[in-house]
Amino acid sequence: MRPYILAETHWKAVKETNYEVAVLPWGACEAHNYHLPYGTDIIEAVEVAAEAARLAWEQGAKVIVLPTVPFGVNTVQPDVKLDINMNPSTQLAVLRDIVAVLNRQEIYKLIVFNSHGGNDFKTMIRELGLEFPKMFLSSCTWFRAVDQKDYFEKKDDHAGEMETSVILHLRPELVKPLSEAGDGAAKKFRMKGIQEGWAWAERKWMQVTKDTGVGDPAKATAEKGKAFFEAATQKVANYFIEVAKADMNDLYV
Ligand SMILES: [Zn+2]
Repeated sequence: MRPYILAETHWKAVKETNYEVAVLPWGACEAHNYHLPYGTDIIEAVEVAAEAARLAWEQGAKVIVLPTVPFGVNTVQPDVKLDINMNPSTQLAVLRDIVAVLNRQEIYKLIVFNSHGGNDFKTMIRELGLEFPKMFLSSCTWFRAVDQKDYFEKKDDHAGEMETSVILHLRPELVKPLSEAGDGAAKKFRMKGIQEGWAWAERKWMQVTKDTGVGDPAKATAEKGKAFFEAATQKVANYFIEVAKADMNDLYV
């Protein structure tokens, strides 16, 4: 039994538990090179959030993980078959309904637990914060919680060494042999401002990569994935605990 997973919990237990923080995992449904499944970001969201919540629960934090939203922002990939785009405005509507429920039921803390690079909840949280002033609204992106450089040789943007290692650890039966994977080579924007990171424009994905990957998966291993998963879940668990225990009237030092 996992009392911190809402989809696996029953009404009596839910009624009797004073949850301190809700966690909403948010993935995406999209091609991940030739070797990883479309549900890669969903699997990561589900598994990392659940393990972090377990660690937090064992330390007394009353965390409840909501069901994962499976569709993310994929506006860059209209030409990739069955990449399912959920527009940011739709995400805001979904998020607003969930925040309204939590607010009504006096669960005043929510962490939007992001697992997809194209999702960005900051502006939505700003807008919903005005509408629901009692709520503490936060987002986190689990794969940025620890420095990937400490675990992997090649930088991963999408379906590269990090993601492949993590899925090799979590769901090896869903990973095609790496000999079938593309090299994840990707073009960069020509503009210096964008290369330097202070200017931004959306990439047209299929003009940038041949195999949908951005990042070379060749050096991925399940061992690297396990080490990264454990480090990330520990760090995320600590954040869940910090938020659960935070005094809403004393958030700043
Ligand atoms: Zn991914």
